[in-house]
Amino acid sequence: MANNFTELQKKDLKYIFHPCAQMKDFENNPPLVIKKAEGLYLIDEHGKKYMDCISSWWVNLFGHCNPRINKVITEQINTLEHVIFANFAHEPAIQLCEELEKVLPNGLNKFLFSDNGSSSIEMALKLSFQYHLQTGNPQKTKFISLQNAYHGETIGALGVGDVDIFTETYRPLIKEGRKVKVPYLNENLSPDEFQKYEDECFADLVELIEKNHSEIACMIVEPLVQGAAGMMMYSHNYLKKVRELTKKYNIHLIDDEIAMGFGRTGKMFACEHAGIEPDIMCIAKGLSSGYYPIAMVCITTDIFNAFYADYKEGKSFLHSHTYSGNPLGCRIALEILRIFKEENILELVNKKGAYLKKQAQKIFSNKKYIKEYRHIGLIGALELKDIAPNERVGRQIYEIALKKGVLIRPIGNTIYFMPPYIITEEEIDILLNVCLESIEEFIQIKNIDLDKISENKKRENNDSPF
Ligand SMILES: *Cc1c(COP(=O)(O)O)cnc(C)c1O
Repeated sequence: MANNFTELQKKDLKYIFHPCAQMKDFENNPPLVIKKAEGLYLIDEHGKKYMDCISSWWVNLFGHCNPRINKVITEQINTLEHVIFANFAHEPAIQLCEELEKVLPNGLNKFLFSDNGSSSIEMALKLSFQYHLQTGNPQKTKFISLQNAYHGETIGALGVGDVDIFTETYRPLIKEGRKVKVPYLNENLSPDEFQKYEDECFADLVELIEKNHSEIACMIVEPLVQGAAGMMMYSHNYLKKVRELTKKYNIHLIDDEIAMGFGRTGKMFACEHAGIEPDIMCIAKGLSSGYYPIAMVCITTDIFNAFYADYKEGKSFLHSHTYSGNPLGCRIALEILRIFKEENILELVNKKGAYLKKQAQKIFSNKKYIKEYRHIGLIGALELKDIAPNERVGRQIYEIALKKGVLIRPIGNTIYFMPPYIITEEEIDILLNVCLESIEEFIQIKNIDLDKISENKKRENNDSPF
Protein backbone atom coordinates (compact mmCIF):
# COMPACT_ATOMS: atom_id res chain seq x y z
CA MET A 1 0.00 0.00 0.00
CA ALA A 2 1.43 3.36 -0.95
CA ASN A 3 2.04 5.59 2.05
CA ASN A 4 0.21 8.55 0.62
CA PHE A 5 -3.13 6.88 1.29
CA THR A 6 -5.33 8.63 3.83
CA GLU A 7 -6.50 6.85 6.97
CA LEU A 8 -9.98 6.48 5.51
CA GLN A 9 -8.60 4.99 2.32
CA LYS A 10 -6.60 2.45 4.30
CA LYS A 11 -9.70 1.45 6.26
CA ASP A 12 -11.78 1.34 3.10
CA LEU A 13 -9.39 -1.19 1.59
CA LYS A 14 -9.35 -3.14 4.83
CA TYR A 15 -13.12 -3.67 4.82
CA ILE A 16 -14.91 -2.92 1.58
CA PHE A 17 -15.38 -5.02 -1.54
CA HIS A 18 -16.29 -2.41 -4.17
CA PRO A 19 -18.69 -3.08 -7.05
CA CYS A 20 -17.63 -3.25 -10.68
CA ALA A 21 -13.93 -3.26 -9.80
CA GLN A 22 -10.90 -5.49 -9.43
CA MET A 23 -9.89 -4.79 -5.83
CA LYS A 24 -6.21 -5.29 -6.69
CA ASP A 25 -6.36 -2.22 -8.94
CA PHE A 26 -6.74 -0.18 -5.77
CA GLU A 27 -3.23 -1.05 -4.58
CA ASN A 28 -1.96 1.89 -6.57
CA ASN A 29 -5.12 3.90 -6.99
CA PRO A 30 -7.43 3.58 -4.02
CA PRO A 31 -11.08 4.69 -4.17
CA LEU A 32 -11.52 8.39 -3.60
CA VAL A 33 -13.23 9.17 -0.35
CA ILE A 34 -15.89 11.79 -1.05
CA LYS A 35 -16.69 14.03 1.89
CA LYS A 36 -19.51 16.01 0.39
CA ALA A 37 -21.11 17.14 -2.84
CA GLU A 38 -22.71 20.27 -4.21
CA GLY A 39 -24.52 20.60 -7.51
CA LEU A 40 -22.28 19.19 -10.22
CA TYR A 41 -19.31 18.71 -7.89
CA LEU A 42 -18.00 15.94 -5.68
CA ILE A 43 -15.52 17.07 -3.03
CA ASP A 44 -12.90 14.69 -1.63
CA GLU A 45 -11.07 14.52 1.69
CA HIS A 46 -8.50 17.06 0.57
CA GLY A 47 -11.13 19.51 -0.63
CA LYS A 48 -10.43 18.73 -4.29
CA LYS A 49 -13.47 19.11 -6.54
CA TYR A 50 -14.57 16.77 -9.32
CA MET A 51 -17.19 17.45 -11.97
CA ASP A 52 -19.57 14.49 -11.73
CA CYS A 53 -20.13 14.05 -15.46
CA ILE A 54 -21.66 10.59 -15.15
CA SER A 55 -24.32 11.68 -12.65
CA SER A 56 -22.96 9.21 -10.08
CA TRP A 57 -23.81 6.17 -12.17
CA TRP A 58 -26.56 7.73 -14.26
CA VAL A 59 -28.86 8.68 -11.42
CA ASN A 60 -28.41 12.31 -10.51
CA LEU A 61 -30.56 14.70 -12.56
CA PHE A 62 -30.62 18.00 -10.72
CA GLY A 63 -27.31 18.14 -8.89
CA HIS A 64 -26.10 16.82 -5.56
CA CYS A 65 -27.69 18.13 -2.38
CA ASN A 66 -30.39 19.83 -4.39
CA PRO A 67 -32.15 22.28 -2.03
CA ARG A 68 -35.63 21.46 -3.29
CA ILE A 69 -35.20 17.72 -2.85
CA ASN A 70 -33.37 18.13 0.46
CA LYS A 71 -36.33 20.09 1.76
CA VAL A 72 -38.96 17.46 0.94
CA ILE A 73 -36.86 14.56 2.16
CA THR A 74 -36.42 16.34 5.49
CA GLU A 75 -40.14 16.96 5.78
CA GLN A 76 -40.93 13.37 4.85
CA ILE A 77 -38.42 11.90 7.27
CA ASN A 78 -40.08 13.84 10.06
CA THR A 79 -43.55 12.64 9.01
CA LEU A 80 -43.35 9.01 7.92
CA GLU A 81 -40.06 7.28 7.18
CA HIS A 82 -41.32 3.77 6.41
CA VAL A 83 -44.37 1.58 6.65
CA ILE A 84 -44.99 -2.00 5.60
CA PHE A 85 -46.42 -1.80 2.05
CA ALA A 86 -48.46 -5.00 2.25
CA ASN A 87 -51.97 -3.92 3.30
CA PHE A 88 -50.82 -0.35 3.96
CA ALA A 89 -50.43 2.68 1.73
CA HIS A 90 -49.46 6.33 2.05
CA GLU A 91 -49.96 9.60 0.25
CA PRO A 92 -46.53 9.96 -1.41
CA ALA A 93 -46.91 6.59 -3.18
CA ILE A 94 -50.43 7.35 -4.33
CA GLN A 95 -49.57 10.84 -5.56
CA LEU A 96 -46.48 9.54 -7.31
CA CYS A 97 -48.53 7.06 -9.33
CA GLU A 98 -51.08 9.73 -10.17
CA GLU A 99 -48.36 12.05 -11.50
CA LEU A 100 -46.46 9.29 -13.28
CA GLU A 101 -49.51 8.20 -15.22
CA LYS A 102 -49.69 11.69 -16.72
CA VAL A 103 -46.17 11.53 -18.17
CA LEU A 104 -45.96 7.86 -19.15
CA PRO A 105 -46.90 6.52 -22.59
CA ASN A 106 -50.60 5.67 -22.87
CA GLY A 107 -51.78 2.47 -21.31
CA LEU A 108 -49.33 2.25 -18.41
CA ASN A 109 -51.53 2.87 -15.41
CA LYS A 110 -50.86 0.24 -12.75
CA PHE A 111 -47.72 0.34 -10.65
CA LEU A 112 -45.54 -2.04 -8.65
CA PHE A 113 -42.73 -0.90 -6.39
CA SER A 114 -39.26 -2.20 -5.81
CA ASP A 115 -35.98 -0.80 -4.59
CA ASN A 116 -33.48 -1.24 -7.42
CA GLY A 117 -33.42 -1.59 -11.17
CA SER A 118 -32.46 -5.26 -11.38
CA SER A 119 -35.28 -6.33 -9.11
CA SER A 120 -37.74 -4.37 -11.25
CA ILE A 121 -36.48 -6.38 -14.24
CA GLU A 122 -37.00 -9.62 -12.32
CA MET A 123 -40.53 -8.49 -11.56
CA ALA A 124 -41.23 -7.60 -15.20
CA LEU A 125 -40.07 -11.03 -16.41
CA LYS A 126 -42.05 -12.87 -13.74
CA LEU A 127 -45.14 -10.77 -14.48
CA SER A 128 -44.97 -11.52 -18.18
CA PHE A 129 -44.49 -15.25 -17.65
CA GLN A 130 -47.29 -15.44 -15.09
CA TYR A 131 -49.65 -13.37 -17.25
CA HIS A 132 -49.40 -15.94 -20.03
CA LEU A 133 -49.69 -18.80 -17.55
CA GLN A 134 -52.94 -17.32 -16.28
CA THR A 135 -54.41 -16.41 -19.65
CA GLY A 136 -54.19 -19.84 -21.27
CA ASN A 137 -50.65 -19.78 -22.66
CA PRO A 138 -48.52 -21.67 -20.12
CA GLN A 139 -46.07 -22.64 -22.87
CA LYS A 140 -45.00 -19.00 -23.28
CA THR A 141 -41.93 -19.15 -21.04
CA LYS A 142 -39.09 -17.73 -23.16
CA PHE A 143 -37.55 -14.28 -23.32
CA ILE A 144 -36.02 -12.38 -26.23
CA SER A 145 -33.57 -9.52 -25.82
CA LEU A 146 -31.06 -7.56 -27.87
CA GLN A 147 -27.43 -8.38 -28.43
CA ASN A 148 -25.14 -6.43 -26.09
CA ALA A 149 -28.07 -5.73 -23.76
CA TYR A 150 -27.70 -4.91 -20.09
CA HIS A 151 -30.59 -5.25 -17.67
CA GLY A 152 -28.83 -5.67 -14.36
CA GLU A 153 -26.77 -8.33 -12.65
CA THR A 154 -29.15 -10.51 -10.67
CA ILE A 155 -29.49 -14.05 -12.02
CA GLY A 156 -32.74 -13.48 -13.91
CA ALA A 157 -31.61 -10.15 -15.35
CA LEU A 158 -28.32 -11.71 -16.53
CA GLY A 159 -30.33 -14.15 -18.64
CA VAL A 160 -31.66 -11.32 -20.78
CA GLY A 161 -28.36 -9.44 -20.68
CA ASP A 162 -25.57 -9.96 -23.19
CA VAL A 163 -22.43 -8.29 -21.87
CA ASP A 164 -20.08 -11.23 -21.49
CA ILE A 165 -17.98 -9.77 -18.74
CA PHE A 166 -20.99 -9.78 -16.41
CA THR A 167 -22.47 -13.09 -17.55
CA GLU A 168 -19.66 -15.48 -18.39
CA THR A 169 -18.77 -16.75 -14.93
CA TYR A 170 -22.37 -17.34 -13.95
CA ARG A 171 -23.64 -19.10 -17.08
CA PRO A 172 -24.39 -22.40 -15.33
CA LEU A 173 -26.82 -20.53 -13.08
CA ILE A 174 -28.62 -18.59 -15.77
CA LYS A 175 -31.78 -19.15 -17.81
CA GLU A 176 -30.52 -17.83 -21.10
CA GLY A 177 -32.90 -15.89 -23.36
CA ARG A 178 -32.56 -15.53 -27.15
CA LYS A 179 -30.50 -12.54 -28.33
CA VAL A 180 -31.19 -10.72 -31.59
CA LYS A 181 -29.11 -8.42 -33.79
CA VAL A 182 -29.42 -4.66 -33.33
CA PRO A 183 -29.27 -2.07 -36.16
CA TYR A 184 -26.69 0.30 -34.67
CA LEU A 185 -26.59 3.78 -36.11
CA ASN A 186 -23.53 4.16 -38.27
CA GLU A 187 -22.57 7.39 -39.99
CA ASN A 188 -20.44 5.52 -42.49
CA LEU A 189 -23.49 3.92 -44.05
CA SER A 190 -25.60 5.73 -46.63
CA PRO A 191 -29.34 5.93 -45.88
CA ASP A 192 -29.93 3.06 -48.31
CA GLU A 193 -27.21 0.92 -46.81
CA PHE A 194 -28.51 1.59 -43.34
CA GLN A 195 -32.04 0.67 -44.38
CA LYS A 196 -30.76 -2.61 -45.73
CA TYR A 197 -28.90 -3.33 -42.48
CA GLU A 198 -31.97 -2.44 -40.40
CA ASP A 199 -34.16 -4.65 -42.59
CA GLU A 200 -31.75 -7.56 -42.13
CA CYS A 201 -31.79 -7.20 -38.36
CA PHE A 202 -35.56 -7.02 -38.35
CA ALA A 203 -35.89 -9.99 -40.69
CA ASP A 204 -33.91 -12.09 -38.18
CA LEU A 205 -36.35 -11.15 -35.46
CA VAL A 206 -39.34 -11.85 -37.67
CA GLU A 207 -38.01 -15.31 -38.42
CA LEU A 208 -37.36 -16.07 -34.77
CA ILE A 209 -40.79 -14.87 -33.70
CA GLU A 210 -42.76 -16.47 -36.52
CA LYS A 211 -41.22 -19.83 -35.70
CA ASN A 212 -41.34 -19.62 -31.92
CA HIS A 213 -44.00 -17.14 -30.87
CA SER A 214 -46.08 -19.76 -29.11
CA GLU A 215 -43.21 -20.16 -26.62
CA ILE A 216 -42.19 -16.53 -26.25
CA ALA A 217 -43.50 -14.52 -23.30
CA CYS A 218 -41.80 -11.20 -23.84
CA MET A 219 -39.12 -9.19 -25.52
CA ILE A 220 -37.10 -6.76 -23.41
CA VAL A 221 -35.16 -3.77 -24.76
CA GLU A 222 -33.13 -0.83 -23.62
CA PRO A 223 -34.84 1.85 -25.70
CA LEU A 224 -32.54 3.37 -28.36
CA VAL A 225 -29.39 3.43 -26.23
CA GLN A 226 -27.55 0.46 -24.74
CA GLY A 227 -25.73 2.11 -21.87
CA ALA A 228 -23.52 -0.61 -20.47
CA ALA A 229 -22.59 -1.74 -23.99
CA GLY A 230 -20.80 1.62 -24.32
CA MET A 231 -23.68 3.97 -25.18
CA MET A 232 -24.43 2.07 -28.37
CA MET A 233 -27.36 3.64 -30.22
CA TYR A 234 -29.87 2.07 -32.61
CA SER A 235 -32.70 3.29 -34.79
CA HIS A 236 -36.11 4.25 -33.44
CA ASN A 237 -37.68 2.82 -36.55
CA TYR A 238 -36.48 -0.63 -35.53
CA LEU A 239 -38.05 -0.20 -32.10
CA LYS A 240 -41.32 0.84 -33.72
CA LYS A 241 -41.33 -2.30 -35.83
CA VAL A 242 -40.49 -4.42 -32.79
CA ARG A 243 -43.56 -3.02 -31.08
CA GLU A 244 -45.85 -3.87 -34.00
CA LEU A 245 -44.47 -7.37 -34.33
CA THR A 246 -44.62 -8.23 -30.62
CA LYS A 247 -48.17 -6.95 -30.39
CA LYS A 248 -49.21 -9.13 -33.31
CA TYR A 249 -47.92 -12.29 -31.59
CA ASN A 250 -49.09 -11.63 -28.02
CA ILE A 251 -45.54 -11.04 -26.82
CA HIS A 252 -45.07 -8.37 -24.15
CA LEU A 253 -42.68 -5.57 -24.91
CA ILE A 254 -40.74 -4.68 -21.77
CA ASP A 255 -39.16 -1.25 -22.03
CA ASP A 256 -36.18 -0.94 -19.68
CA GLU A 257 -36.03 2.83 -19.14
CA ILE A 258 -33.92 2.47 -16.00
CA ALA A 259 -31.02 4.40 -17.54
CA MET A 260 -32.64 6.35 -20.37
CA GLY A 261 -35.85 7.47 -18.68
CA PHE A 262 -36.42 10.87 -17.14
CA GLY A 263 -35.11 13.04 -19.91
CA ARG A 264 -31.66 11.61 -20.63
CA THR A 265 -32.36 11.31 -24.36
CA GLY A 266 -34.25 14.58 -24.63
CA LYS A 267 -37.70 13.00 -24.19
CA MET A 268 -39.22 12.06 -20.86
CA PHE A 269 -38.87 8.38 -21.86
CA ALA A 270 -36.65 7.19 -24.69
CA CYS A 271 -39.38 4.99 -26.20
CA GLU A 272 -41.21 8.22 -27.12
CA HIS A 273 -38.69 8.73 -29.94
CA ALA A 274 -40.29 5.68 -31.55
CA GLY A 275 -43.80 6.75 -30.60
CA ILE A 276 -44.55 3.39 -29.03
CA GLU A 277 -46.55 2.14 -26.07
CA PRO A 278 -44.84 -0.73 -24.23
CA ASP A 279 -46.77 -3.26 -22.12
CA ILE A 280 -44.35 -3.03 -19.23
CA MET A 281 -41.89 -0.31 -18.33
CA CYS A 282 -39.15 -0.47 -15.69
CA ILE A 283 -37.93 2.76 -14.15
CA ALA A 284 -35.30 3.48 -11.48
CA LYS A 285 -32.07 5.53 -11.44
CA GLY A 286 -33.30 9.06 -12.34
CA LEU A 287 -36.64 8.33 -10.67
CA SER A 288 -35.10 9.25 -7.32
CA SER A 289 -31.99 10.95 -8.66
CA GLY A 290 -29.64 9.06 -6.35
CA TYR A 291 -31.36 10.10 -3.14
CA TYR A 292 -33.00 6.86 -2.26
CA PRO A 293 -33.13 3.40 -3.82
CA ILE A 294 -36.50 3.10 -5.52
CA ALA A 295 -37.62 1.40 -8.72
CA MET A 296 -41.02 0.82 -10.27
CA VAL A 297 -42.68 -1.46 -12.78
CA CYS A 298 -45.44 0.21 -14.76
CA ILE A 299 -47.94 -2.10 -16.46
CA THR A 300 -51.20 -2.03 -18.40
CA THR A 301 -54.64 -2.76 -16.99
CA ASP A 302 -54.74 -5.82 -19.24
CA ILE A 303 -51.76 -7.34 -17.43
CA PHE A 304 -53.10 -6.29 -14.05
CA ASN A 305 -56.42 -8.01 -14.78
CA ALA A 306 -54.74 -11.37 -15.37
CA PHE A 307 -53.82 -11.40 -11.67
CA TYR A 308 -57.16 -10.12 -10.37
CA ALA A 309 -59.18 -13.05 -9.09
CA ASP A 310 -60.59 -14.69 -6.00
CA TYR A 311 -57.85 -15.54 -3.54
CA LYS A 312 -58.54 -19.25 -3.92
CA GLU A 313 -57.66 -19.18 -7.62
CA GLY A 314 -54.03 -18.55 -6.64
CA LYS A 315 -53.38 -15.86 -9.23
CA SER A 316 -51.66 -13.36 -6.97
CA PHE A 317 -48.29 -11.93 -7.90
CA LEU A 318 -45.85 -12.96 -5.22
CA HIS A 319 -42.90 -10.67 -5.32
CA SER A 320 -42.10 -8.37 -2.44
CA HIS A 321 -39.14 -6.42 -1.20
CA THR A 322 -38.98 -5.13 2.34
CA TYR A 323 -38.42 -1.57 1.18
CA SER A 324 -41.06 -1.61 -1.58
CA GLY A 325 -42.91 1.67 -1.70
CA ASN A 326 -40.79 3.38 0.91
CA PRO A 327 -42.26 6.85 1.55
CA LEU A 328 -38.94 8.69 1.35
CA GLY A 329 -38.26 7.32 -2.13
CA CYS A 330 -41.80 8.08 -3.25
CA ARG A 331 -41.75 11.63 -1.93
CA ILE A 332 -38.42 12.32 -3.66
CA ALA A 333 -39.66 10.87 -6.96
CA LEU A 334 -42.80 12.98 -6.72
CA GLU A 335 -40.69 16.11 -6.26
CA ILE A 336 -38.57 15.15 -9.25
CA LEU A 337 -41.66 14.96 -11.44
CA ARG A 338 -42.72 18.39 -10.15
CA ILE A 339 -39.32 19.86 -10.95
CA PHE A 340 -39.62 18.47 -14.50
CA LYS A 341 -42.92 20.22 -14.97
CA GLU A 342 -42.29 23.48 -13.16
CA GLU A 343 -38.79 24.12 -14.48
CA ASN A 344 -39.24 23.06 -18.10
CA ILE A 345 -36.49 20.49 -17.77
CA LEU A 346 -36.90 18.75 -21.13
CA GLU A 347 -36.40 22.01 -22.98
CA LEU A 348 -33.26 22.62 -20.95
CA VAL A 349 -31.87 19.13 -21.68
CA ASN A 350 -32.38 19.61 -25.40
CA LYS A 351 -30.76 23.02 -25.40
CA LYS A 352 -27.70 21.90 -23.44
CA GLY A 353 -27.59 18.65 -25.39
CA ALA A 354 -27.43 20.55 -28.69
CA TYR A 355 -24.57 22.63 -27.30
CA LEU A 356 -22.70 19.52 -26.13
CA LYS A 357 -23.10 17.92 -29.54
CA LYS A 358 -21.97 21.00 -31.43
CA GLN A 359 -18.89 21.51 -29.27
CA ALA A 360 -17.95 17.82 -29.27
CA GLN A 361 -18.13 17.70 -33.04
CA LYS A 362 -16.06 20.85 -33.31
CA ILE A 363 -13.34 19.45 -31.08
CA PHE A 364 -13.24 15.82 -32.17
CA SER A 365 -14.44 15.59 -35.77
CA ASN A 366 -10.99 15.82 -37.34
CA LYS A 367 -9.09 13.77 -34.80
CA LYS A 368 -7.33 10.71 -36.17
CA TYR A 369 -7.81 8.67 -33.03
CA ILE A 370 -11.60 8.98 -32.90
CA LYS A 371 -13.61 6.16 -34.40
CA GLU A 372 -17.00 7.62 -33.63
CA TYR A 373 -18.77 10.23 -31.51
CA ARG A 374 -22.21 9.06 -30.44
CA HIS A 375 -24.78 11.46 -29.11
CA ILE A 376 -28.37 11.70 -27.93
CA GLY A 377 -30.02 14.12 -25.53
CA LEU A 378 -27.42 15.05 -22.96
CA ILE A 379 -25.31 11.93 -23.45
CA GLY A 380 -22.06 11.74 -25.39
CA ALA A 381 -19.68 8.85 -26.03
CA LEU A 382 -16.28 8.99 -27.68
CA GLU A 383 -15.15 5.70 -29.13
CA LEU A 384 -11.45 5.60 -29.92
CA LYS A 385 -9.75 3.56 -32.58
CA ASP A 386 -7.53 0.74 -31.48
CA ILE A 387 -4.73 3.13 -30.58
CA ALA A 388 -3.09 0.85 -28.01
CA PRO A 389 -3.92 -2.82 -28.45
CA ASN A 390 -3.99 -4.82 -25.20
CA GLU A 391 -4.05 -1.68 -23.07
CA ARG A 392 -6.98 -0.62 -20.93
CA VAL A 393 -7.27 2.54 -22.97
CA GLY A 394 -10.53 3.98 -21.61
CA ARG A 395 -9.54 3.19 -18.06
CA GLN A 396 -6.24 5.04 -18.34
CA ILE A 397 -7.86 8.07 -19.96
CA TYR A 398 -10.45 8.06 -17.20
CA GLU A 399 -7.68 8.17 -14.60
CA ILE A 400 -5.96 11.09 -16.30
CA ALA A 401 -9.26 13.00 -16.54
CA LEU A 402 -10.01 12.32 -12.88
CA LYS A 403 -6.69 13.88 -11.86
CA LYS A 404 -7.82 16.94 -13.81
CA GLY A 405 -11.03 17.04 -11.78
CA VAL A 406 -13.48 15.52 -14.25
CA LEU A 407 -15.32 12.25 -13.69
CA ILE A 408 -16.18 10.39 -16.90
CA ARG A 409 -16.42 6.59 -17.32
CA PRO A 410 -14.64 4.12 -19.59
CA ILE A 411 -16.06 1.07 -21.34
CA GLY A 412 -13.39 -0.65 -23.39
CA ASN A 413 -12.12 1.93 -25.88
CA THR A 414 -15.05 4.25 -25.23
CA ILE A 415 -15.28 7.08 -22.75
CA TYR A 416 -18.66 8.61 -22.11
CA PHE A 417 -20.42 11.32 -20.16
CA MET A 418 -24.02 11.89 -19.08
CA PRO A 419 -23.93 14.84 -16.72
CA PRO A 420 -26.72 16.13 -14.48
CA TYR A 421 -28.99 18.62 -16.23
CA ILE A 422 -27.69 21.53 -14.15
CA ILE A 423 -24.35 21.50 -16.01
CA THR A 424 -23.65 24.88 -17.64
CA GLU A 425 -22.26 25.57 -21.12
CA GLU A 426 -18.97 26.68 -19.54
CA GLU A 427 -18.78 23.38 -17.66
CA ILE A 428 -19.56 21.45 -20.87
CA ASP A 429 -16.58 23.18 -22.46
CA ILE A 430 -14.37 22.20 -19.52
CA LEU A 431 -15.59 18.59 -19.72
CA LEU A 432 -14.80 18.32 -23.44
CA ASN A 433 -11.44 20.01 -23.14
CA VAL A 434 -10.41 17.72 -20.31
CA CYS A 435 -11.42 14.73 -22.47
CA LEU A 436 -9.31 16.10 -25.31
CA GLU A 437 -6.29 16.78 -23.10
CA SER A 438 -6.58 13.41 -21.37
CA ILE A 439 -6.72 11.44 -24.62
CA GLU A 440 -3.81 13.38 -26.07
CA GLU A 441 -1.76 13.00 -22.92
CA PHE A 442 -2.35 9.25 -23.05
CA ILE A 443 -1.23 9.17 -26.68
CA GLN A 444 1.90 11.09 -25.75
CA ILE A 445 2.73 8.94 -22.69
CA LYS A 446 2.37 5.77 -24.75
CA ASN A 447 4.26 7.24 -27.67
CA ILE A 448 1.54 6.29 -30.11
CA ASP A 449 2.12 7.07 -33.78
CA LEU A 450 -1.32 8.06 -35.05
CA ASP A 451 -0.34 7.42 -38.67
CA LYS A 452 0.27 3.78 -37.84
CA ILE A 453 -3.02 2.85 -36.23
CA SER A 454 -4.55 0.69 -38.90
CA GLU A 455 -7.70 -1.20 -38.16
CA ASN A 456 -10.54 -0.06 -36.01
CA LYS A 457 -11.00 -2.16 -32.93
CA LYS A 458 -13.85 -4.52 -33.53
CA ARG A 459 -16.58 -4.00 -30.95
CA GLU A 460 -16.84 -6.87 -28.56
CA ASN A 461 -19.43 -7.51 -25.96
CA ASN A 462 -16.85 -8.19 -23.31
CA ASP A 463 -15.47 -4.67 -23.33
CA SER A 464 -14.48 -3.92 -19.81
CA PRO A 465 -16.38 -1.35 -17.78
CA PHE A 466 -13.48 -1.21 -15.29
C1 LIG B 1 -28.60 0.24 -14.07
C2 LIG B 1 -29.45 -0.53 -14.98
C3 LIG B 1 -30.15 -1.66 -14.55
C4 LIG B 1 -30.01 -2.22 -13.16
O1 LIG B 1 -30.39 -1.32 -12.15
P1 LIG B 1 -29.76 -1.47 -10.69
O2 LIG B 1 -30.49 -0.44 -9.88
O3 LIG B 1 -28.30 -1.18 -10.84
O4 LIG B 1 -30.01 -2.85 -10.22
C5 LIG B 1 -30.97 -2.30 -15.44
N1 LIG B 1 -31.11 -1.86 -16.70
C6 LIG B 1 -30.47 -0.79 -17.17
C7 LIG B 1 -30.68 -0.34 -18.56
C8 LIG B 1 -29.58 -0.09 -16.32
O5 LIG B 1 -28.90 0.95 -16.78
